[in-house]
Amino acid sequence: MRVLVVDDDKMYRTLVSSSLSDWGYEVVAVDNGKIALEHLAAEDAPRLVVLDWMMPGLSGTDVCKRLRAQPGPLYTYVLLLTARRRMQEVVEGLDAGADDYLTKPFHPSELRARLRAAQRILDLHHKLFESHRELAHLATHDPLTQLFNRRAILGQLSHEAARAQREKKFLAVLLIDVDHFKEVNDRRGHQAGDLVLCEVASRMSAALRPYDSLGRFGGEEFLVALTADSAADASAIAERLRAAVAVTPLFVVGHEFPLSISVGVATASASGPIETESLVHSADSALYRAKHEGRNRVCTALSNPDPRPVAASS
Ligand code: GH3
Ligand code: MG
Ligand code: MG
Repeated sequence: MRVLVVDDDKMYRTLVSSSLSDWGYEVVAVDNGKIALEHLAAEDAPRLVVLDWMMPGLSGTDVCKRLRAQPGPLYTYVLLLTARRRMQEVVEGLDAGADDYLTKPFHPSELRARLRAAQRILDLHHKLFESHRELAHLATHDPLTQLFNRRAILGQLSHEAARAQREKKFLAVLLIDVDHFKEVNDRRGHQAGDLVLCEVASRMSAALRPYDSLGRFGGEEFLVALTADSAADASAIAERLRAAVAVTPLFVVGHEFPLSISVGVATASASGPIETESLVHSADSALYRAKHEGRNRVCTALSNPDPRPVAASS
């Protein structure tokens, strides 16, 4: 584990650093608070800091306060090491955001034991962070295709609406339905149907730009939310998706599955358009037309139903 040692006193800095190295820690040693904060702002910042209180410029408690004022996703554990030992000072140090406190001169065994305690807390934080990330993923993603689920893709649509307004662009919704999908289920079983859904999802993902959002809207329906420079651009993206899915059949255990999708596109301009809900509704009507006109095609909404500015609906 990497530890940041911060002390303006060379003797203590060397003493702490060499003890930590002997105990197997990887040490980064600096002599002032400003450089310490720079290290702590880095992406792979050390998670454990042994911090001197009294330093010229930024003091240890200043560093603590600034660190706590901008908490990152991962926790930083601070062990304050100082000659100040009065009860009031201990309280002040902990209130500034330190997790633990050790007075100089310290006994190496006590420092080592306190670092072990720090490690236990940091391990717990890490586990908590990981399970939080896992839960957030489960709550926002469809387990079959790993795309955004319905709630999350609608959230993305609201974000895209805000972005379209900011960047004065067009907001587009592509509503996509797999053609004759029920036949796959009926003739080859649900498992084959699931494989088809995953393949369609993966072909569409590969055909989209990384910053466009694709989600599973329901059963065999998908939704893409994107900002575009024009309505024609949005239709071109839809056509690219359609072509990417239909490019070749899927072969699974000796069977051939021709794949195709129908796409309904609705676009709103940032200067005049609509609420996201009505946009989805328009895309749905366009999708219905695409089905009616023979499938494996893109249809565009006939007109924007509502001439109000783009607003992210909750
Ligand atoms: P169309 O071209 O008109 O869209 O015809 P279709 O057969 O695709 O349309 P329909 O809406 O009748 O069929 C959709 C089917 O999708 C019905 C449902 O059983 C199936 N389905 C929904 N979710 C899943 C899923 O997660 N896995 C599988 N295998 N099937 C699903
Ligand atoms: Mg279908
Ligand atoms: Mg359907």
